[in-house]
Amino acid sequence: MKFIVSLPKLLAMLAATSLLAALPLSAHDGHEPEPTSVPTPAGTLVPVNAKTDAAWLAKARAAYALDRCPVCGDKLDDKSPEYIYREAGHPDRLVRFCGDAECVPAFSKEPEKYLRMVDDAAKAHGGTAH
Ligand SMILES: [Zn+2]
Repeated sequence: MKFIVSLPKLLAMLAATSLLAALPLSAHDGHEPEPTSVPTPAGTLVPVNAKTDAAWLAKARAAYALDRCPVCGDKLDDKSPEYIYREAGHPDRLVRFCGDAECVPAFSKEPEKYLRMVDDAAKAHGGTAH
């Protein structure tokens, strides 16, 4: 008997508490609201093309010390495809691949690991980061 009466009451209470619980989240202080239009927090690989900033590209190429594909270790040549690793809040990074179709998606899975290899090569090369 009591159950029949209390169930709608319970539902109303649940609705009320979930509304209250949602309030402090939206009114989080100090933080900028999360941009909802960005689908992934990780960066993306953009192929270098005619629209790429030439000055930036020349600088990035000069600083790029890794002469091998960071993913599989194959030697690079003049035809090696170049990509820009673009991540929100970080400067663009040049990455060169061997041309194997597997290497670009493999990089995208663990970009930080491979970018570290690029950085390490630059350091080993005498390390003028700027
Ligand atoms: Zn490769």
